[in-house]
Amino acid sequence: MNKAEIIEQLKQENTKELFKEADKIREVYVGNEIHIRGIIEFSNYCCRSCFYCGLRQQNKNISRYRMSRDEIIKLANEISQLGVRTIVLQSGDDIEFSQKEISRIINRIKRGKPEIAITLSIGERPLDDYKAFKDAGADRYLLKHESANSELYAKFHPGQTLKRRLAILENLKKLGYQIGAGNIVGLPGQSLEDLAEDILLLKSLDVDMAGIGPFISQKDTPLANFPCGDLDLNLRVLALVRINRKTIHLPVTTALATLDHEQGQILGLSAGCNVIMPDFTPECYRRNYIIYDNKKRVNLEKAKDIIFKAGRVISKGRGDSPR
Ligand code: SF4
Repeated sequence: MNKAEIIEQLKQENTKELFKEADKIREVYVGNEIHIRGIIEFSNYCCRSCFYCGLRQQNKNISRYRMSRDEIIKLANEISQLGVRTIVLQSGDDIEFSQKEISRIINRIKRGKPEIAITLSIGERPLDDYKAFKDAGADRYLLKHESANSELYAKFHPGQTLKRRLAILENLKKLGYQIGAGNIVGLPGQSLEDLAEDILLLKSLDVDMAGIGPFISQKDTPLANFPCGDLDLNLRVLALVRINRKTIHLPVTTALATLDHEQGQILGLSAGCNVIMPDFTPECYRRNYIIYDNKKRVNLEKAKDIIFKAGRVISKGRGDSPR
């Protein structure tokens, strides 16, 4: 699809056909299995100040934490014993968490367990770190591009540039990672044209996965008073990503469940998605991992219930990129 065709689809009010097509492509290219990825939010420290995020460095209203190496490894082992084959290690851009320490954690989780994949979602770090993490056994890296509009990107990410973000993604690819990007739907000032650019960017970057979720405000950020993104528009973006990047792994984000507790993620699974990411972060930490407000908890039980209600089956494999 070209940009004009994508914009036309984003404007459509009758989405039934679009979702049906995305669902069919999903079935043909990645099958009926849903991949479960278990998230550990191991640190909420962040050296950046993205306008929409409650973990921003300037937010003094949350208690900061770092889980210890032993806590992370023990939790990862418990998750894998539950049959979850991907561990997602996620944090703010916590540059104080050293390369050596993160490498040790990856190495210990992966040791003797080729059936387990590790996805890192720990932001922008020196290139040397990415190499060390790959050597230690990391398989995938998720670095959302957030917005393909470089002006919007610069406005909401002080001190950062889209150009640098994209260069990092290219470097991660060269290092052998399966890469993930993704954008926010409903950022203040965002147009349908911007969303079409997001979809085209995911295609040209040739990503293996994409995390796409609605903007949801957080009370301690500069965007506290802006309205949340629209669920239906988010579903249309997901469907168009599936149609334009057929083999992609596409999660139903927790933010979808936050907008609509009962139906959000089920609707996502019928609009082209094939991944769900339950949160395993211990409650004492999770309550301070506040990227946005009123975040709905999706645990393993809830994730399985959603898969069941969507009439799909749980994958028993790692869910690597089909490529
Ligand atoms: S979005 Fe990521 S990099 Fe930006 S403030 Fe939040 S945790 Fe930090």
